[in-house]
Amino acid sequence: MKKVVIIGGGIAGMTAGVLLQKAGFATEIYEKNALPGGQCTGWKREGYFIDNCIHWLTGTRPGSALYDLWKEIHALGDDVELYEKEMFFSSKLNGQTLTFWRDKERTRQEMLALSPEDEKEINKLMDYVTLAETMTVPVEKPFDAMNLIDFLKMGMSMKEMGKVMKEYGKLDIRELAMRFKHPLIQRAIVDYMPSGYQAYAFLVSYATVTGGNGDIPKGGSLAMSLRIWEKYKEYGGIIHTNTNVEKVVVNQKRAEGILLDNGQTVAADYVICACDTDYTFRKLLPEIYMPKGLKELYANREKYPVSSGFQIAYAVDGVFPLLTGTRVFSCNEIKVGNQSVRCMSIQSYDYEPDFAPEGKMILQTNFSQTEEDYKYWEALYKDKEAYSAVKNEIAKQAVERVTFEYPFLEGKIRVIDVWSPMTYTSYCNSYKGAYMSFVTTKQAKSITVPGVVKGIDNVLLASQWLMGPGGLPTAAAMGKFAAWRIAKKEKCSIN
Ligand SMILES: Cc1cc2nc3c(=O)[nH]c(=O)nc-3n(C[C@H](O)[C@H](O)[C@H](O)COP(=O)(O)OP(=O)(O)OC[C@H]3O[C@@H](n4cnc5c(N)ncnc54)[C@H](O)[C@@H]3O)c2cc1C
Repeated sequence: MKKVVIIGGGIAGMTAGVLLQKAGFATEIYEKNALPGGQCTGWKREGYFIDNCIHWLTGTRPGSALYDLWKEIHALGDDVELYEKEMFFSSKLNGQTLTFWRDKERTRQEMLALSPEDEKEINKLMDYVTLAETMTVPVEKPFDAMNLIDFLKMGMSMKEMGKVMKEYGKLDIRELAMRFKHPLIQRAIVDYMPSGYQAYAFLVSYATVTGGNGDIPKGGSLAMSLRIWEKYKEYGGIIHTNTNVEKVVVNQKRAEGILLDNGQTVAADYVICACDTDYTFRKLLPEIYMPKGLKELYANREKYPVSSGFQIAYAVDGVFPLLTGTRVFSCNEIKVGNQSVRCMSIQSYDYEPDFAPEGKMILQTNFSQTEEDYKYWEALYKDKEAYSAVKNEIAKQAVERVTFEYPFLEGKIRVIDVWSPMTYTSYCNSYKGAYMSFVTTKQAKSITVPGVVKGIDNVLLASQWLMGPGGLPTAAAMGKFAAWRIAKKEKCSIN
């Protein structure tokens, strides 16, 4: 039985682990943190549960290979209830509100009532959102292993997406917003995603919600990670938590195994690096082995930027149905990182009553942060006291602004946690604190990097960084592809 060692117990690493165990390999996952899941996680504070990842999980609609993969690893299952988001998000400007509802027709009517002069663009946007509902993440096999028939099949299944790309593929989100005349529609479109994203990302994200393909599994992010871990253990897999890997041991172009930071070595026939790819080639393997495709992405910081978030969790004394969903509103200026922001969001987790004690609720704010902001946090982090003071001051100002917007929260809202891009770097070794992969700007080529390491045959990569724009489906797909490559080499199949 061939032994596979997997570095990183995030979604990519655990997906590879489940599929390889199922196919008869002996695998072990080494995870530096106390819990598996990586960025797909959550934690308790003062009797509240802070869910840190899933805003929507692409692939919850039956009938796609991605859905089947989620079921196979038990991210989803007949025993897993789904929360159907009623709204994508809601944006407010000058006393008017626009909501992107799950029900597209309701959104269309709301937009038309707001701005009859934008009728043509509104109808077009909504029609293309319908086309974008057909979008799926191909997870059958690695793209470089696909033949002509595979590509034809993929092309057929995505033909409606082709029309979306033709219409919106050359615009970024800001340019999409400027197609509308009404200031609130313009603002709502730029509110939700980091600037620079291609316009189609907005359509596709909204379409996952309208198409019933982006629901939230009950229990949230950590519960999903723990289900996958259980499935992995059920197949006999072993996860070593609290175990930091120091490097991959390479001898004469073959990996012999890994070295742990306690000095212990672990022998393996294959090694899968299922952690951040920048970290992999700075710490675990010599940089010369970084695939050329990846090197180009890291070298071109303007074309392939990354983003992170500065986040705050608040406990609320009371349950206020008015706060349901994600709400974006204008606020007095706050300095967050290097930016001065004038609008902020709050997201309610009222769909999970267990996340807060009875009669109370939990809210979160996420301020999007750029690479420039990351430099600010990185420098500040060296002085822990100053870092903590700045975080607390931003949180205090955020509470003031939330209370100004929702005066009924006066005296009923308090901060229970604050975290910055540095949290992701220290928790997951994330490149510049990013929790998605490279942003797909309009100048960028589509990002797909094969998860192989030229020159070391038995090392594979599995990470969201191999395919833009990252996220959970990409992580799972890349985990599956690493397992697929090993199974193929060993002349067996993973399903
Ligand atoms: C706030 C937030 C919101 C998000 N929202 C969504 C969403 O709504 N939908 C969506 O699809 N995605 C979302 N994501 C993104 C999603 O969480 C990630 O894309 C995904 O979890 C990445 O998985 P991964 O396995 O590639 O990487 P990671 O989760 O980073 O896993 C890598 C693992 O490797 C471990 N590791 C690193 N170095 C070592 C070492 N030396 N030794 C041992 N272990 C090591 C890390 O601890 C980690 O557990 C969100 C993320 C965040 C933070």
